Amino acid sequence: MTGSPLDLAGIGIGPFNLSLAAQLDAVDDLDARFFERKPAFDWHPGMMLPGVSLQTSFLKDLVTATNPTSPWSFMAYLVAQKRFYEFLNADFPAVPRREFAQYLAWVAARLPSLRFGTAIREVSFGDGAFTLACDGPRAEGAVRARNLALGVGLQPYRPPFAAKLPAARQFHAAEAAFALDRTAGLRVAVVGGGQSGAEIVLDFLGRGRDAPAQVDWISRRPNFLPLDASPFTNELFTPAYVERFRDLPEARRRAVVARQQLAGDGISAETLQALYRRLYALRHLEPEGPGVGLYPHREVLDADAAGGRLRLVMRNGFDGSLAFLHPEVVVLATGYRYALPDCLAPLRHRLALDGDGRPLLAADFTARWDGPDHHRIFVLNAGLTSHGIAEPQLSLMAWRSAVIANALAGRPCFDLGLPPAPVAWSGAPERRGTADATCAEE
Ligand SMILES: Cc1cc2nc3c(=O)[nH]c(=O)nc-3n(C[C@H](O)[C@H](O)[C@H](O)COP(=O)(O)OP(=O)(O)OC[C@H]3O[C@@H](n4cnc5c(N)ncnc54)[C@H](O)[C@@H]3O)c2cc1C
Repeated sequence: MTGSPLDLAGIGIGPFNLSLAAQLDAVDDLDARFFERKPAFDWHPGMMLPGVSLQTSFLKDLVTATNPTSPWSFMAYLVAQKRFYEFLNADFPAVPRREFAQYLAWVAARLPSLRFGTAIREVSFGDGAFTLACDGPRAEGAVRARNLALGVGLQPYRPPFAAKLPAARQFHAAEAAFALDRTAGLRVAVVGGGQSGAEIVLDFLGRGRDAPAQVDWISRRPNFLPLDASPFTNELFTPAYVERFRDLPEARRRAVVARQQLAGDGISAETLQALYRRLYALRHLEPEGPGVGLYPHREVLDADAAGGRLRLVMRNGFDGSLAFLHPEVVVLATGYRYALPDCLAPLRHRLALDGDGRPLLAADFTARWDGPDHHRIFVLNAGLTSHGIAEPQLSLMAWRSAVIANALAGRPCFDLGLPPAPVAWSGAPERRGTADATCAEE
């Protein structure tokens, strides 16, 4: 451990800290380094199923929204790969997720501030800096840094009933690509009606001879509901909306974000259509395919595995009835939740956390803690209830990284000024050309 501390140490290199590293690459006088336990960049490999697509415009890449001339844009990647014309001609309705993952990996292989194969085991604070204890094949001893950027992502969520099922008979969607092959000829239940559940069901139904014998799909939602990607819903994924959202009291923010679930985790129209067409084929054209059961509006209340026979107990929200399923394998497409990483345990008691264990964040993504103000802990992907529905999504990552870079540098390295939003989310109605902001019709 030699030399002066870094200006910033980043923990985790998923897309969000990668975006921060890419934006900081344009800021000469800041010394930042980012650490990732995996040996190389790998974006959700367990959900990299054939044919899956990005749910976001490729223009919402690591940098473009605030630094369109960065060498780390999706366009720069396409040109470097000599794919520009072919990509345009392919005219994808949505970019293949594999392509976006290749773009992210291309940037990650080139940015000099990244260190892979380095897990951060423990973070402590003293003598004017954070100290990061590192493990892993490429760890270079302890690292000292004046500020931190926590970009460790979310953890797969397993509902309580899963604890009652044998580990070998269940897997989370996060591991799907490595586990789906083990389901050939079996009865499978997929629990979860979001995009991941839909992609897994679609994959099962297209497996031909290797398909499960029976696929039952269970969703708590009243139907298999679409992602809302309409223009006014997309306004929720803008910096102007985040600003208004932040002005609300916490209880109201939670209520608002709960109502917006389909803006972030509905099923894309493309996936729904592919699923419906596949179901049509199985019902009418290829009856030799797997059996399919569709169970929306069902909540799995309980499970057991008495005598090795799995049982899921479901309540039907449509007619109030109870029903049972007896799958051989259960797939948990039950989402992800924020958890403070273990490496922060020594600082946990110094952080202000909300009721869900998320750090309380200021507008510039700094966590509230009892240490010196000028030693900041920036937290990415923890602000669902402080910054809104865009937080766990790619949409605003370039903007968020620019906000953090400006705060770290203490000057506006990136111009973040924007005109007023087209939608008046809050405040009194405004009249163009009048100073009077009251509503004349009242
Ligand atoms: C299958 C899937 C598809 C998605 N598709 C879209 C989409 O199309 N559009 C969209 O807007 N959003 C999408 N999302 C949501 C979101 O964009 C992604 O989850 C994104 O990967 C979040 O980035 P992240 O950097 O916060 O976390 P992650 O990608 O989870 O990366 C965190 C990294 O931190 C590392 N790490 C953790 N702890 C340590 C430690 N102690 N030391 C070192 N490294 C550590 C982990 O190994 C990991 O690589 C998708 C999510 C999933 C699950």
